Amino acid sequence: MSEASLPKASVSEAPAQKRSKVEALKERSNFLREPVASEILEDTNFFSDDGTQILKFHGSYQQDDRDTRKSRTAAGLERDFQFMIRTRNPGGFVPPELYLALDELSETYGNHTLRVTTRQGFQLHGVLKANLKTVMGAIIRNLGSTLGACGDLNRNVMAPPAPFTDQPEYVYAREYADQIADLLRPQTEAYYEIWLDGEKAISVEESPEVAEARQRNGNHTIFHDSSEPIYGTYYMPRKFKCAVTVPGDNSVDLLTQDLSLVVITDAEGRLQGFNLFAGGGMGRTHNKEETFPRVADAIGYVPKELVYDAVKAIVAVQRDYGDRFNRRHARLKYLLHDWGVERFVAEVERYLGHKLRKPKRLRKFEHRDYLGWHEQGDGNLFLGLSIENGRVQDSEAQQLKSALRQIVKHYHLPMRLTAQQNLVFYEIAPSDREGIQALLDAHGVLSVDQIDPLVRHSMACPAMPTCGLAVTESERALPAINQRIRALLNQVGLQGEYFSIRMTGCPNGCARPYMAELGFVGTATDQYQLWVGGSPNSTRLAERFIERLPVSELEAQLEPLLVQYKQQRQGKGKRRESFGDFCARVGVESLREFAAAYRVVPPVSE
Ligand code: SF4
Repeated sequence: MSEASLPKASVSEAPAQKRSKVEALKERSNFLREPVASEILEDTNFFSDDGTQILKFHGSYQQDDRDTRKSRTAAGLERDFQFMIRTRNPGGFVPPELYLALDELSETYGNHTLRVTTRQGFQLHGVLKANLKTVMGAIIRNLGSTLGACGDLNRNVMAPPAPFTDQPEYVYAREYADQIADLLRPQTEAYYEIWLDGEKAISVEESPEVAEARQRNGNHTIFHDSSEPIYGTYYMPRKFKCAVTVPGDNSVDLLTQDLSLVVITDAEGRLQGFNLFAGGGMGRTHNKEETFPRVADAIGYVPKELVYDAVKAIVAVQRDYGDRFNRRHARLKYLLHDWGVERFVAEVERYLGHKLRKPKRLRKFEHRDYLGWHEQGDGNLFLGLSIENGRVQDSEAQQLKSALRQIVKHYHLPMRLTAQQNLVFYEIAPSDREGIQALLDAHGVLSVDQIDPLVRHSMACPAMPTCGLAVTESERALPAINQRIRALLNQVGLQGEYFSIRMTGCPNGCARPYMAELGFVGTATDQYQLWVGGSPNSTRLAERFIERLPVSELEAQLEPLLVQYKQQRQGKGKRRESFGDFCARVGVESLREFAAAYRVVPPVSE
């Protein structure tokens, strides 16, 4: 297929509109080269708007210090520009040499912290433009990559972080996360030209099976005449997110992805194929009801022989029919919403040249975070460590960053980052357990049973002061809010109770707040929309409950909700209804009615 013969469904459906500006930038970029290649050589502290857009495809966002923006502007100074660099780690895999490199880079060129993302990568913040090439080059030379961690293409492919070796479905999930990441990796040489002066890194070697699958044409899934056979000149209409998991394991938030694959094995553990889910996505815009979070639909089953072709067919349908006029309507979820599953599947089958089969029955998904010590199945151990909001740093109370550095240096352990912003060390010899635990204890790193479960099951996006889209605090606000919610739970007689809490500083939803049992979505300075009713296993969308909750009114607004839950929840002991399930069962109208009639009972004086 040549690009000139691209289906123009989007064009004919919206003839009066113009393609979004980013589409023209992609076209002019010469496969992601310009203007980044020229502007990186300029003696400035920032990229142009066009350069900033293309830089995203290379895995970096231009940001500025939001804390000083106003005062600098008032003083007539340039903004304090700095860059966030995001790594791409399929299945969250970080080899020890990469971790040590990132740790050192964050000290030398960054803000002395690393941040685990909700898609199993690391972010490095605070890098100056003058150091960008040094940092990117060092990451690539140390077995890492940032290519495609941001931008309109396939992002980091997720997989359960559990390093089980004796459960074949987990081994397949990790393997196929790697293969799909390779299959959909951009083929442009621009990345290595710009950051490594053309030198190709070792980490780009891939299996011949994947290389062959990329070039294989289904019915128009590739462009024969393009240096990007799968993406073409225009890449994807927007970001595209994939995950691979196993039946029952929802550690990857599978319904929030554009495409999720669930490994299906036979009774002997041999790989048979994959169930496919498509059309999930979190981002929305306040006051634009045509934008919304959506959970993915089960669209079928594909035998293992066809899996790469099926992935390419789904990508090609979104590439060719996704909205390239309105970026707010460009994710695959809107195509699924507008077309319905039947039309979408028919189009995928047309590209694939085969029918998708009925999805296989799956057992119920559970949320798993793999914290604490576990056996990995071959005599070795793994250890999941909770990292509050993913921020790896040293503080007075806990020297987490120093502890991790020493563990990796001394024991040379690989790690897998988790979708809950935590990390898992693995390949630990049982004889090393005591030493590692002693090292963690000496640095004040809390073990899983020392952490409030509210904190364990909460996460926040970075927001202020680094994210340019933040309208309010998130990571810096959540610890105090968790403490206040714990105090309120104790006050209303719900000691020990916990639920999932997720917070973002804007409606884009990077920390997936719309799946939480209690979700905070920033609307203005110190104000949040409140979402309730997500399920503990993160398979149900929450509902909007309060439009604007000033942080100062947190207790007043949450108290009736928690009291109603205490009074009306069903079940006992282990079968007791969770907070999210309760809110979903009674519905937001009932919650609002109860809150309206609720009167705080004043404490009885002696
Ligand atoms: Fe930034 Fe919004 Fe994402 Fe938070 S959710 S990191 S504020 S874009």
